[in-house]
Amino acid sequence: NWAHSARFFTTAAQLHQLPASELPEVAFVGRSNAGKSTAINTLAQQRQLAYASKTPGRTQHINLFHLGAKAAPDQVWTDLPGYGYAAVERTAKLRWQEVMAEYLAWRRNLCAVVQMVDSRHGFTELDRTLLEFVAPRVRNGEVRLLVLLTKADKLNRKEQAESLRGAQAVLAELATDEADIGVALFSSLNKTGIGDVSNILHSWALP
Ligand code: GDP
Repeated sequence: NWAHSARFFTTAAQLHQLPASELPEVAFVGRSNAGKSTAINTLAQQRQLAYASKTPGRTQHINLFHLGAKAAPDQVWTDLPGYGYAAVERTAKLRWQEVMAEYLAWRRNLCAVVQMVDSRHGFTELDRTLLEFVAPRVRNGEVRLLVLLTKADKLNRKEQAESLRGAQAVLAELATDEADIGVALFSSLNKTGIGDVSNILHSWALP
């Protein structure tokens, strides 16, 4: 239970501006509007935590939050800028790619990536591009990957099963003996998957 402990830690426009850290760091990524901010707030049991990432001037930043649960050691959550926003100009898109690629490839204490994918649409080309940034570290077991199929409340049972199968097929391409890859249906609205995902996040904080 992270409630009461989650707080804004720091923000940066580039990897080299982030303080070095030994704490296990979990990065949240996803297309704009996938439900990332809502999911972070729901998982942290705070209404406004990821609100910082939505303030003008910070939307293209790497925003870090510090989580300290009573029963588990500390953890840092990184909210990476949402991608795929249509109105963003070309140079800003290229910059986004650089920042994300750099962070995912080189952040030393990165232990896991949680990728939000809208359960109705599945992986888009940009989602796959992002996966490629972190793929080498997932394949060699250095970074875990958990894909959340968001807004699952909008799908019926059959559609949920199809969404899950589709995502599993994409993720199978990343599978190796070392890789730790998970996928779950998720809804901040009706709390689908919240308990399981919280437990997984907690387990990542353990040494
Ligand atoms: P972000 O851009 O990825 O941070 O997305 P937001 O968290 O801001 O959510 C985008 C929109 O989707 C908002 O209108 C949310 O209310 C809505 N949304 C977020 N999570 C859910 C969910 O679990 N179910 C439904 N139905 N809508 C959601």
